[in-house]
Amino acid sequence: MGIDAQRLIRDFGHLDGKELLAALVKSDLEGRIAVTSSFGAESAVLLDLVAEVEPGLPVIFLDTGELFDETLEYRYQLERSLGLSNIQVIRPNAEELRLAEDLWRDDIDRCCELRKVRPLARAVTGFDALVDGRKRAHGFERQHLATIEDGNGVIKVSPLANWSAEEIEAHFIRRNLPRHPLVAQNYRSIGCWPCTRPVDPGQPVRAGRWAGQGKSECGIHTLSLGVDGAGI
Ligand code: SF4
Repeated sequence: MGIDAQRLIRDFGHLDGKELLAALVKSDLEGRIAVTSSFGAESAVLLDLVAEVEPGLPVIFLDTGELFDETLEYRYQLERSLGLSNIQVIRPNAEELRLAEDLWRDDIDRCCELRKVRPLARAVTGFDALVDGRKRAHGFERQHLATIEDGNGVIKVSPLANWSAEEIEAHFIRRNLPRHPLVAQNYRSIGCWPCTRPVDPGQPVRAGRWAGQGKSECGIHTLSLGVDGAGI
């Protein structure tokens, strides 16, 4: 029998941040919960909470083959500085990479499906719950986000859903967390290099993702575990 998402929401939906994470890793989800991280601009905050609660929790890092070199280096920096001991790097397979070559130029939905949705769907089949760093403050589809959601097959956990930009910044300072190198160049949400731009002061955090292309999510947050994937 699967995990009862409604019971988890009832028992733990009032918690957030580290308290939520700590409660869930000791719940029925023990051994069945993983974190997804892009190692982007704000990722250090969630990963810091993970390191405090359980540094051996699986952290799934999707390397699409189109990430910035700075992101790949930042992953190692955070892994070392936070003491994370179970980062699992997943990648598209050879056939997906062949089909996706240069696809970002004229079919971004298909490119995201091949480079993100499919590889992630394979990686998360052993888990009942996925923890991510989404926040309501990011706007767009995220403005009504709950800390625990029933994703029709996977439970989605967003411990930072209620955190404001100011609280994220305060956590960086309080915990002296290293910054993604591109933040200094005004990148506020960082994904694949062809689809990520810096943003102007006052613009929404995710305005630099697929800018001008009518897209704000890559599809992996809206689909179901075991069917289409879920995560970063
Ligand atoms: S974000 Fe851009 S490059 Fe990355 S998978 Fe999606 S379309 Fe392709």
